[in-house]
Amino acid sequence: MNIAASWPIPQQALPDVYPSKIGGLLVASFEEVLGRQQFSQILRQAGMETGEGGVPDLPFGAPSKLYQALCDAYGEQSANGISLRTGRVMFRRGLRVFSGTLGLSHRSFRLLPPAQKILRGLDLLAWLLNHYSDQRVRVEKNDKELFLINERCPHCWGLKNASPCCPLPLGALQEGLAWACSGRQYSVEEIACRAKGDPACTYRIKRKSSG
Ligand SMILES: [Zn+2]
Repeated sequence: MNIAASWPIPQQALPDVYPSKIGGLLVASFEEVLGRQQFSQILRQAGMETGEGGVPDLPFGAPSKLYQALCDAYGEQSANGISLRTGRVMFRRGLRVFSGTLGLSHRSFRLLPPAQKILRGLDLLAWLLNHYSDQRVRVEKNDKELFLINERCPHCWGLKNASPCCPLPLGALQEGLAWACSGRQYSVEEIACRAKGDPACTYRIKRKSSG
């Protein structure tokens, strides 16, 4: 397998935070999917205070606490559905915030062939997460597949589960692939997860055989 991402991972670790720039997107996306009232109940259940005046820097494990609170409130299956949808919304919202920084609306990105667009998009996503948060993300590839690998995933931080349990980033990747290729030619699944003892949460992206 070749390392596809060329971005250096910063040596200096950030403090263990899930910063407000991304936390704000997460909270707004949950509110859009669940409604403000229901989501504030989940926040309370997760032990996370929110005041007026925007979302502060959150503890690194905040997303996993929210996922756990969703599971407790609605059961795992519904929590997964809610998280998937929230991930899709978060991709769209994130695009509006970061598209300029990442050059995603520039011709040089838009005119790339789909496979290169996806590789480039994942590479940029890895850069974004490594630089705006304390995650450790890289991209690898073989002949047929791409892998997004996160060694410090905040979505299952501190959780133990028999199967992969990071549906929110999965939803964001699904939406990102559909956006990049204007359709559903690519599939993505989480094939390894820290919550079940794997060294990293790993998402495999591959072209559908029919497409
Ligand atoms: Zn995971």
